[in-house]
Amino acid sequence: MIIILKPEITKDSPEYQLLMKYLSQFEGVKTLVAEYEGITRKVTEIHLIGHTQKIPIEMIQSLPGVEKAVRVSAKYRQIGRHGDLEPIGFDYKGLHFDQNTFHVFMGLCAADTKENVEAIFKALKEAGVRTARMGAYKPRTSPYDFQGHGKECLPWLFELAGKYDIAVIAMEVLSPHHIDEIWEALEKAGHPTGVMLQIGTRNAQNFELLKAVGNQQEFPVLYKRGMGLTIEESLNACEYIASEGNHNIIFCLRGVRTHLGDPHRNLVDFGHVPVIKRLTKLPVCVDPSHPIGSRVAAPDGIKDIYHVAAQGVIAGANMVLVEFHPKPQEALCDGPQALYLEEIPCFLDYINRARQAYLDMKDIVARYNLQAMAPKP
Ligand code: PEP
Ligand code: MN
Repeated sequence: MIIILKPEITKDSPEYQLLMKYLSQFEGVKTLVAEYEGITRKVTEIHLIGHTQKIPIEMIQSLPGVEKAVRVSAKYRQIGRHGDLEPIGFDYKGLHFDQNTFHVFMGLCAADTKENVEAIFKALKEAGVRTARMGAYKPRTSPYDFQGHGKECLPWLFELAGKYDIAVIAMEVLSPHHIDEIWEALEKAGHPTGVMLQIGTRNAQNFELLKAVGNQQEFPVLYKRGMGLTIEESLNACEYIASEGNHNIIFCLRGVRTHLGDPHRNLVDFGHVPVIKRLTKLPVCVDPSHPIGSRVAAPDGIKDIYHVAAQGVIAGANMVLVEFHPKPQEALCDGPQALYLEEIPCFLDYINRARQAYLDMKDIVARYNLQAMAPKP
């Protein structure tokens, strides 16, 4: 069961003490308090864990200070919506993220040279974009492939980000100590930019890493669905982050592993955007680069990466993560799928049009008031 407190109730309120006293009579029930920013207000939830069947929900709902109580069946209790709980929103480096906002994170798969990093940041600034992607730690299939420059590149990478007014960089971490390295480099540089810690698909069930990114409040987390995991498994893994106290999470769809996706690298799963938005409170990102894996275009002249990015956005995605490179043929990682630097304005124009189409389509559906048309049960 989850009890949502009225907005004005704090841990010091008499209503809170009364509620806790009432709950303490139930044996085998543990309480866990979760606080976070909802889209419209700060939300305090009391999670009851254990033998909660005997607790009368009507009684809880009638107590002062309680806004509502819901019984939960999903195990991912903190990130879950459980019907109609308010989605989570968060602010980071002056930008807001929730299930209604929209951001595009373009950049290199892996930071390779200073020149290439600078070229991307400069192009983003010219396009008026303050969000980027840059890998410093790369999870490669072969140990002989480029592993990323690691902490060595962080000082110049962050300095360049600051120079071009980049507010947030999505950056993958492979190990808990990478979080400390990023923090130290930002601290030394005077925090010219911010970092969204990315959990890659290969680490989607690396529970110690998930606990480590959850056990800090400094950085938000971009959690990528495991390429071989069901939605249920990935949501339970993602819950590890929230269970440690960090609720500033974005859930990213990036395709799933099956030969049925051929000739694409992975099968695009962006039809799950509305599913994640319905099941969880989290904003949803789509990554069109990794499931497609190449720059090929359809006969209509539109690249497959553009096509599927639009599919995700039309389905209501709140963020797009996509790879670009000034010289894709020289890229040390994922060159075949990197879009050209010169394409940034085109991609933005295209994707913003898809976002507008989604908003227009939402209006159309609202105008027809479909809920009122549904037969009453
Ligand atoms: C990436 O975004 O650079 C990446 C490695 O993605 P994924 O974990 O989805 O393969
Ligand atoms: Mn990549």
